[in-house]
Amino acid sequence: MIPVTRTFLPTFEEYMEQAKGIWESGQLTNNGAQVRSLTSAVSQYLGVSHLELMSNGTLALQLAIRALDLRGEIITTPFSYVATTNAILWEGCEPVFVDIDPQTLCIDPRLIEAAITDKTCGILATHVYGYPCAIETIESIAKKHGLKVIYDAAHAFGGKLNGSSLASFGDCSTLSFHATKLFHSAEGGAVVAADPEVARKLFLLSRFGHIGEDNYLCLGINAKMSELHAAMGMVMLPKVDQIIAARRQCSFWYDEHLQGCHLARPHAPEGLEYNYAYYPVVFDDARSMKLALAKLIEHDIRPRRYFHPALNTLPFLEQPGRYSCPVAESMAERVLSLPMFVGLTEESIKQISGILRSCN
Ligand SMILES: *Cc1c(COP(=O)(O)O)cnc(C)c1O
Repeated sequence: MIPVTRTFLPTFEEYMEQAKGIWESGQLTNNGAQVRSLTSAVSQYLGVSHLELMSNGTLALQLAIRALDLRGEIITTPFSYVATTNAILWEGCEPVFVDIDPQTLCIDPRLIEAAITDKTCGILATHVYGYPCAIETIESIAKKHGLKVIYDAAHAFGGKLNGSSLASFGDCSTLSFHATKLFHSAEGGAVVAADPEVARKLFLLSRFGHIGEDNYLCLGINAKMSELHAAMGMVMLPKVDQIIAARRQCSFWYDEHLQGCHLARPHAPEGLEYNYAYYPVVFDDARSMKLALAKLIEHDIRPRRYFHPALNTLPFLEQPGRYSCPVAESMAERVLSLPMFVGLTEESIKQISGILRSCN
């Protein structure tokens, strides 16, 4: 079977070597040596100053919303993983869906201002597949209306725009280090904050608001990363550039073997140093997507419908169907993410491309 992704694992020995210190110290969690090392190593890799590790990327989103004190309506994208919307709902805020740009598949900045009301407190947008949102435009809209900006950068680890890490924008950027992501710690995540005060708040929120002894400063939760997870992150981080390079190769092979095929691809803006997190292809219509998907499954190839359904149609929204997002809804019916992982061979990519050609 060829899955959409396969977790890159270090050798067992590499992991044990890194984890040795945990056995020596006996400290398994609570901001131990591994978490502190990973915090500075990831900060350095991304070139950011204020980063807090979290137990996963969903709590990273939730705590970013909390730390920025967002209440009321949050303008967001209908085209992302479900966690983006769930975090807004779980924090008691209201998602206001704004359609996506058909070129970048990120939130369409031209539609944001019309969605702003007196209850709007912020914008939560995803750099979907690692392609950047219209960061400059979003920033100027936010400034004009006094809104906070959070970027869900779960797909963007290692990606850069004009030399700056894609995790360095907005009031907060959140990351996921889940096993399916390009850089992982099995489970894990982080929030990058522009303001050191927000970073301090994130630190407190992620550990019960505990400030030592029997003192609790604010309502907190447990979103701490464990030492065992941080050790995995420490072993994986030096491999990230090699992982990106291998994925770039896969992406080139797809480009080559899919040439002339009637499939659209998201638009990469100038100045983007892409991380090759995904290889999405967009079909002309839902029928041809489903046909191709069935053919691939017949050959034991398992692409995924990232991202389906459009989040504005989720059944558990207060009023599903309240926001109409025709571009995102159509995209969600026509897109497939093709298999993409370190170790995927050109042979397999040729086979996948051949199947796609045959039903095109
Ligand atoms: C994976 C993902 C998340 C959630 O991250 P977890 O670490 O799995 O909680 C959030 N947003 C997006 C866009 C994701 O792809």
